[in-house]
Amino acid sequence: EREYQERFRYILVDEFQDTNHVQFQLVKLLAGKRRNLTVVGDDDQSIYRFRGARVENLIGFLDHFPEAKVQLLTGNYRSGQRILDAAHRLIQFNNPARLEAERGFDKRLRSRRGLEGAIEHRVYRTASDEADGVAAAISEGLAAGRDPGDFAILARAHNHLDPFASSLKQRGIRFRRIGTRGLYSRPEIQLCLNVLRTLADPDDGAAAYMALGDPLFGADPVDLARLGAGARRLNRGVLALAESQAGDPSSKLQPASREAIRRFLELHRRLAASALRRPTSEVLYEFVTESGLLGELAGEDSLEAVDQVQNLNRLFGIISRIGPLLRQDRVAQLIGHLDLLIEMGDDPAVAADIDENSVHLLTVHNAKGLEFPVVFLVQLAERRFPQPRRPEPLPLPPELRSAPGDEKLDHDREERRLFYVGMTRARDRLVLTHAPDYGGRREHKPSRFVVECLDLPPEPKRAAAASPLESIARYAPAAEIAPPELATAGRPLGDDQPLTVSHGQIDDFLTCPLKYRFAHVAQVPLQSNPAVMYGIAMHHAIRIYHQHRMKGLPITAEDVIAAFEGAWSSEGFYSREHEEQRLDQGRRAIRRFVEREQAARTVPLAVEKEFKFRLGATTVVGRWDRIDETREGVVLVDYKTSEVADSQKADERALKSLKEEQLGLYALAYSEMYGVTPARVELEFVEAGIHGRAAVTPKHLARARARVEEAAAGIRSGNFPPDPDQRKCGYCPYARICIHSAARGGE
Ligand code: SF4
Repeated sequence: EREYQERFRYILVDEFQDTNHVQFQLVKLLAGKRRNLTVVGDDDQSIYRFRGARVENLIGFLDHFPEAKVQLLTGNYRSGQRILDAAHRLIQFNNPARLEAERGFDKRLRSRRGLEGAIEHRVYRTASDEADGVAAAISEGLAAGRDPGDFAILARAHNHLDPFASSLKQRGIRFRRIGTRGLYSRPEIQLCLNVLRTLADPDDGAAAYMALGDPLFGADPVDLARLGAGARRLNRGVLALAESQAGDPSSKLQPASREAIRRFLELHRRLAASALRRPTSEVLYEFVTESGLLGELAGEDSLEAVDQVQNLNRLFGIISRIGPLLRQDRVAQLIGHLDLLIEMGDDPAVAADIDENSVHLLTVHNAKGLEFPVVFLVQLAERRFPQPRRPEPLPLPPELRSAPGDEKLDHDREERRLFYVGMTRARDRLVLTHAPDYGGRREHKPSRFVVECLDLPPEPKRAAAASPLESIARYAPAAEIAPPELATAGRPLGDDQPLTVSHGQIDDFLTCPLKYRFAHVAQVPLQSNPAVMYGIAMHHAIRIYHQHRMKGLPITAEDVIAAFEGAWSSEGFYSREHEEQRLDQGRRAIRRFVEREQAARTVPLAVEKEFKFRLGATTVVGRWDRIDETREGVVLVDYKTSEVADSQKADERALKSLKEEQLGLYALAYSEMYGVTPARVELEFVEAGIHGRAAVTPKHLARARARVEEAAAGIRSGNFPPDPDQRKCGYCPYARICIHSAARGGE
């Protein structure tokens, strides 16, 4: 106990309202006598009671820590004021079991967006009318210039979303359903996890069985069953038995199984050697590339393959996040930790769920943490939202349960908090919808939560039978789940359909359409690249420096170095020495940068400012690193962490970038957004302190526009043929998995 109290001297718990009883006990133990504890939470957003969360932990926090300072965060950067006010009106019906009522705090949120926001209530006759009405409203929004990704339809349960999926499909509106199946249950993820498990424990029979049976290896299922039974009988590991049987010509194994076992074991030996030295993400990367899994999926032209690669990408993200938190980022430790999380019910949503080219359909639980400009909260009828209380299918152990109380009241409060979370996902506009007729004999009254949040008069009592047609419709099969319809996944997009592109996408497409497909359609994961991480950390540090200067706040070189180190990640370096060398190089570069800036005394007009402009149906997005206002006019600066020999070379690179690359796009963005052509663009090479400069002319803007149009037309076509050559493929991060790569003699 003391060891951990010494190790963690300051503790911060986020989303404290979601902690259970045991977790709070653990936090108290860790905080020990020092009591250096900060918790952040909102009792009105506690929605995981079904898995043991105790909102009482937050409400009663001050009873356990009476000396704690309370800081109320009431500025809201998401929703318009009307939406916040309605949500607050609703949640007060949970009093007195709220912090506001218990402690007398004023938790009313104030919108910092300077927008009123809009809130509407629409009543339809039947479930189908409601779904059609919502689809029609979205269609109007799209015609008015909104992107599909601006809209979300939220419901209490997955099956409430079925009619909306049908209606959107009928109108040809792209949509995406989120969170119907968790990441860890996807076959491609299971394969990766099973391989990692066999590396951590070669005697893990279940993992070996599943991995060998995966189509990637293709062992015969009957052989696998025999091997499993034999391993149990002989008390041996499946892998060890498979190895000995594959090498025994008299065994009954099918040729396919022998080949599967041979391939698996060969790869397993190599990975096991890497697992001793390398962090887990690198071992996993070796598996997905060397086994052919990634190459196979990335080369497939189906939407399913795109999703699978994106799921792998998601897994890499999780592993890269967990790895550095462990004492040692090695396979055995990491998979042990991950299995614990999985056992506890952790199962993140599958990848690429949020896609700006699709309307999103999701449950309110899945929407936690997300936000959308326009939200339709649907099927808001009694017995739908709130849902009736049901017996728990798997009761929680008593240690994890909430303190005994009024179960019915607690259930209603939890449902109300869920409704509150749904309302506050909306940024600009919230539409609440319901229909009296969802099938069945009884007419559905509007949800009490609609009445509460809009302060409506209570519904008069009446009962009428539901329409026969609607009753029959209940038995129709659920709407087929539309796959994500990306033009970029092989289906063309019309010229008038919205498309959003960035500099990276334009550049990748014009370099090689297949590279674009790998990077932006399939989202093939890449091994950590220390050069990219170095650039990100340096940009972060420079931004912190400028932000302080622009606000007139003091900042020293050491502060900037601390920001640089804070954004640093050790992943991908060949050795500790290599990492130290780069860190040192960065620290020195920052000291020189701060010296130069302080001597120059110029404060930028803006840093890391985002831009967004439209060319027809194409939206171009990006970010300027720095904007300066000089006597000659506006100057756009892009920071580079790469090397450059001298000013002449730097000027050449700036001119090239203005003519053919990102600086041209940045100049075009400025002139489109502000109607002013920047005087010049600059590349600032941070290491050497050298500036490359180039004056902007109308010709450069026209060229940048033509590049956007060419790339957008190509992306819309949905064709991504390879365009290999030695130079491009030599620099291409996908060359390792690309069968067309000229760098490996493919074409
Ligand atoms: S390796 Fe070459 S052909 Fe393949 S995607 Fe990259 S640039 Fe295109």
